[in-house]
Amino acid sequence: MDDLDGLRKIPKQLPKEFEQYLGQPAFKLPCPDGCCSSFAEHFTRPFLENLARIDVKPEPVSVAKMYQDGKYDNVVRIALDRASEITAIIKEVSGSDRGDDWLPFFAICESCGRILTTQAYAWDGQKVSYRCKGGIAGKNFIEGCGHEGAVGIRDGKLPWRVEWAARWSHLGVTFEPMGKDLMASGGTYETGKAICERIFNSPAPLPIPYEWIVIEGGKRLGKSAGRILTIGELIDIATPEMARYFFFRSKPTSHKDIDFGLGITKLAEEYELAERTYFGQDTGIPEKELEDVKRNYELSSINFINNKFQVQSKYFNVSYSHLTSLVQTNDNLNSIIDTVNRTNEIRYVEDWSEEERQKLEIKVDAVRKWIDTHAPEDMKFQVEKQPPDVQIPIDHRKAFDIILDKLNKIDWTPDNIHNTIHETSKNHGIKAGDMFKSMYQIFLNRTKGPRLGYLLASLDREFVVERIRHFSK
Ligand SMILES: [Zn+2]
Ligand SMILES: [Zn+2]
Repeated sequence: MDDLDGLRKIPKQLPKEFEQYLGQPAFKLPCPDGCCSSFAEHFTRPFLENLARIDVKPEPVSVAKMYQDGKYDNVVRIALDRASEITAIIKEVSGSDRGDDWLPFFAICESCGRILTTQAYAWDGQKVSYRCKGGIAGKNFIEGCGHEGAVGIRDGKLPWRVEWAARWSHLGVTFEPMGKDLMASGGTYETGKAICERIFNSPAPLPIPYEWIVIEGGKRLGKSAGRILTIGELIDIATPEMARYFFFRSKPTSHKDIDFGLGITKLAEEYELAERTYFGQDTGIPEKELEDVKRNYELSSINFINNKFQVQSKYFNVSYSHLTSLVQTNDNLNSIIDTVNRTNEIRYVEDWSEEERQKLEIKVDAVRKWIDTHAPEDMKFQVEKQPPDVQIPIDHRKAFDIILDKLNKIDWTPDNIHNTIHETSKNHGIKAGDMFKSMYQIFLNRTKGPRLGYLLASLDREFVVERIRHFSK
């Protein structure tokens, strides 16, 4: 946690009073809402809590504390002693010239508490002398207070490029994922690598550049784009497993397109396909991709025990698509389970274990949240309790008679219902699309809706048959 970094500007979510803290290190700032012990905790806590929901439990390390506790004494000393070599490396690798008397250290000003405003000018092996003369942060210039002083090496920090190399060396980092911008030729990684190897005598970590996450087909996410996507938002509507799957399904080096609208149902379909594949169903996935698909599913599983992912022992699934109808035709979990049992989608319906109930509950909550927040309008519907006042063409009404006869006999599953209606329409020379339109009209009093098989399967068979009979000829 880079909590020794100075506050560079005041983002919208911070109160105006925070202007007084511009340039001060984050670890010194108060919680903006008064709910945590510090500014850093306020912003890291929700992130860590959401990571825990997807079973990622990092050990947070505070950079400020590492300096204060003297853990960095050694690397800071080396960096200051060999400042001129570091200056030369930065010039050689990145082309940027810091000047002959540059020292890689930002002191925290003893007078005004700012760190972005100080410039170090002397190092005597004990203390760093500095002037608080002001500094540039992004587009802003932050005024210094003019103070001159000298501090010990625990009261300041190394500049970012040097700090990164020092961190690799001190923590023994072997693997470092980073945004692709840091991997540019002459960029931060190359400079850090040279400093790490030549100044700290440590091998630089293996870099893995990752691509951006883009939203809805190209808009870039990020602080400056003004749209911040939190992992919590994704988990809320996509379940923890699907959120993990979102990251595991593609290479780190390919960009990830997240679409909170219909994209979520596509992600769900892909995840459920991987699940069925994992449990040995023939899903049409080509032989050479099977191993990857199964592994992605395994890695997306939440329980990580004794260094091994625990995947549930049997295949259990009520699809996300089916649930988008179920949550709108049922008020609570029990009635959803009753409907699922009735629709025969799963074989061992009699014995729902507590774990399966919980899993379904998480999925149901996610689907409800998605319907309430991001689902396209035409996914939302209400089933008409009484037959609506709609006109249905005569040839459709004739076909209704045959359809309801067949619906009375089939297993009540989405596929069976869909196929029955589809085939009967065809046999009567009616376009399936037109017939589906009539069906939406008599149940929803509109011409569009969720996938018809799922919609009708989530309703009581008697209710469905009765409604079709009402309009039949
Ligand atoms: Zn707080
Ligand atoms: Zn100052």
